[in-house]
Amino acid sequence: MTQFTDLGLNPALLKALKSEGYETPTPIQAQAIPAVMAGRDLLGIAQTGTGKTAAFALPILHRLDATRKPAPRRGARVLVLSPTRELASQIAESFRTYGKHLGFTVATIFGGVKYGPQMKALAAGVDILVATPGRLIDHMGEKTANLGETEIFVLDEADQMLDLGFLQPIRRIVSTLPKTRTNLFFSATMPGEIGKLASDLLNDPFRVSVTPHAPTHERVDQRLIFVEADMKREMLSELFADAKLTRTIVFTRTKRGADRVAKHLEGGGVPAQAIHGDKSQGQREKALAAFKAGNCRALVATDIAARGIDIDLVSHVINFELPNVPESYVHRIGRTARAGATGQAISLCADDERPLLKDIQKLTRQNIPTEDRRKDRALATMAKATRLAGGDKPEPVEAAGDRNRGRGRPAHQQAGNAAPGGGHPHARPRNAGGGQGQPRGPGQGRSAEGQGGQRQGGQRQGAANGGAQTQGAQRQSGPGRGGETAPVRASRPSWHPADA
Ligand code: AMP
Repeated sequence: MTQFTDLGLNPALLKALKSEGYETPTPIQAQAIPAVMAGRDLLGIAQTGTGKTAAFALPILHRLDATRKPAPRRGARVLVLSPTRELASQIAESFRTYGKHLGFTVATIFGGVKYGPQMKALAAGVDILVATPGRLIDHMGEKTANLGETEIFVLDEADQMLDLGFLQPIRRIVSTLPKTRTNLFFSATMPGEIGKLASDLLNDPFRVSVTPHAPTHERVDQRLIFVEADMKREMLSELFADAKLTRTIVFTRTKRGADRVAKHLEGGGVPAQAIHGDKSQGQREKALAAFKAGNCRALVATDIAARGIDIDLVSHVINFELPNVPESYVHRIGRTARAGATGQAISLCADDERPLLKDIQKLTRQNIPTEDRRKDRALATMAKATRLAGGDKPEPVEAAGDRNRGRGRPAHQQAGNAAPGGGHPHARPRNAGGGQGQPRGPGQGRSAEGQGGQRQGGQRQGAANGGAQTQGAQRQSGPGRGGETAPVRASRPSWHPADA
């Protein structure tokens, strides 16, 4: 089997990999690294958990070292575009980890934090810039970023970019890059518009596809429990009585739901933290750090907040509620079973969620083993005891019917796209954010990057919100909302994305 030492990588990279405990490249790494080292463009069909970040970060670092030169002022030698700030932070972190013996500068640019430190980092130029599209376009508009000397361009999670309405901004950014450059393109799926973007960007790419052979969800041990909506919290407590749940992500459909479930778990003695779009960047990071350190057994998250969370050794994923979009189920359970590990996913399904279950089974082409805990005496007794003890009040549980609040509104409004100019009368189903791929430009609507610090009409708005993360600068928390736009299919009952 190929080892990292067989790939001809720079010894400084091998040293860093060794200290991370990585010896064997994952399939995408074994194929992509030699091609990118040789200067080829790359089309990678791969989802998170396959090791795709190292598949591009390692050969990029290798090439940067082989062709050392000063970073261009206000620009970067390498530009990586990511759909969310969480993913951007993780990618930057990977570059720092793998490149720790090489001394390259790495900076992140995303919304919801201050402009100042980002401008400062850009002014001097950086070797590797990891950015989300909206904020980068802001900087380009202000002439604080100029990408005319970019040597390598990486587009990560292109299909998520489509979901979030970022295709136009991406094309705008790409139009400012030099014609001669290396392009690396990653996407978990290849819908038509993404295929078109790939063929426009890539020049005779080396193709590598890892998803069809080993989809993550097939490595996850899945269980589904039928239980009444108002008994789900008791069911959850029962599940957490198992000490095997060491590091569990619990998914809820709404932000309020996440807070309630976290409170319930804490009340029952299970250390838990909620993470969602109403939490500041600082709060999110604190919760993630506690979870990573093993100080909190349960991270209770909404789909969007959890996107891109990359934590090794997540033992279990629990779907407290089934997601509205079946693809989210695959994303959720993929939080466990990272990098070849196996994991467990347990879903709680109330009667009104059965249509969602059908959609999931259709998508995954799997029949999830089920248990029926409806009308269960043990759960009812537990609920009664809690109530008698003055614990949890029977609070409303988000029934699937709650998601229908948005019904009757046009899809583009349901998708929270009420921003001036951002709406479109015929919202494209997969694109909640921008209808028909219209970008939410700076200051328009909710974006994956948060609203804090977005500009409108050239005026900086709320630049005082939050901080920035660049190399050497501390990230500060800010009241900028997590900025979340949920992918909504217009044809499905929809909940309002502000809840997610
Ligand atoms: P990614 O698909 O890039 O999100 O990576 C998924 C996870 O796998 C991350 O936690 C990486 O740190 C880890 N990882 C990546 N490559 C390897 C490798 N060759 N051996 C072990 N773990 C890896």
